[in-house]
Amino acid sequence: MVLASPALTGCHASAPYEESRLLMDTVVRIEAYGPRAREAVEAAFAEFTRLDQLWNPYDEESELARINRAAGRGPVAASPDTLRVLETSLEVAARTGGAFDPTIGPLVRLWGFGEQAAPQPPAPAAIARERALVDYRLVRLDAGSGTVELPRAGMALDLGAIAKGYAVDRARAIMQQYGVSRALITAGGCVYGLGDAPGNRPWRVAVQHPRDSRAILGVIPVRDLAVDTSGDYQRFFEADGTRYHHVIDPRTGYPARACQSATVLHPSAQWADALATACMVLGPERALALVETVPGAALLLVDERGQLHRTPDLPWEEASHGR
Ligand code: AMP
Ligand code: MG
Repeated sequence: MVLASPALTGCHASAPYEESRLLMDTVVRIEAYGPRAREAVEAAFAEFTRLDQLWNPYDEESELARINRAAGRGPVAASPDTLRVLETSLEVAARTGGAFDPTIGPLVRLWGFGEQAAPQPPAPAAIARERALVDYRLVRLDAGSGTVELPRAGMALDLGAIAKGYAVDRARAIMQQYGVSRALITAGGCVYGLGDAPGNRPWRVAVQHPRDSRAILGVIPVRDLAVDTSGDYQRFFEADGTRYHHVIDPRTGYPARACQSATVLHPSAQWADALATACMVLGPERALALVETVPGAALLLVDERGQLHRTPDLPWEEASHGR
């Protein structure tokens, strides 16, 4: 969530160019300042669109769908972006002990969030069957030959927890190519603040209250930094009084239980995105311990009871009265 930008101050500030589009199943908004802001924003949206087409799991023609169809049939060619995002994904998976796992595809498909009219949790036997296909350590990535292999039939990649962050990193690089030194890029729960906001102050990113969509927990000031929030309120259904949401614990095959939301700061948006998802799975203690070991990262986490946890270096302005 992003607070309204501060008003432009001084007559030297250039007017912003701002545009929003629906991409990657979410709202992508870019606000940029500078003489070439419009060109930069258009180029960034073109890049978002390209990556969305590459990794859309619901599009049979996407590269991701093609790689998943080839599971169990040997290595297949992958584009440089796919190889790069997978490389980061496997690194985060290893660092988080598999809490973040890009091979979560079979479980995501089985749970089918947002697809059923009257959603119910899947049968335990089906969960156990699909869970057995989830293991990032089996992925064979060969950057030299530009191929990826999912060795078991039924395995499937899902980049839903990192794709937005990767695209935001690309958009940020494009801003810089066009000489844009101030911009705010938002893709769903992922925000990147480039340079300063107008008025030479940091951008201000509000963190949503996970149980009250009209309230915020507080504000994070950012400059050349990504902030990504993963939450149990973003895609979920309730059945028999239990909330089932879209972040799945790969060890159990069920939605993660220990957190309501996790917000990670990192200079790289893809790392922030992937780590935030991992923290939802890890729970407060392990998430705090993990983030402390990642240089440049900070964490704000809301546990299952609504208690806040944060790393000591988190820049943070707590909202008064929960607003
Ligand atoms: P995010 O909102 O970034 O936490 O991403 C959530 C999305 O990532 C889900 O909708 C799934 O597509 C996918 N996902 C769910 N659980 C995991 C997991 N443990 N590791 C990696 N991706 C996941
Ligand atoms: Mg994520």
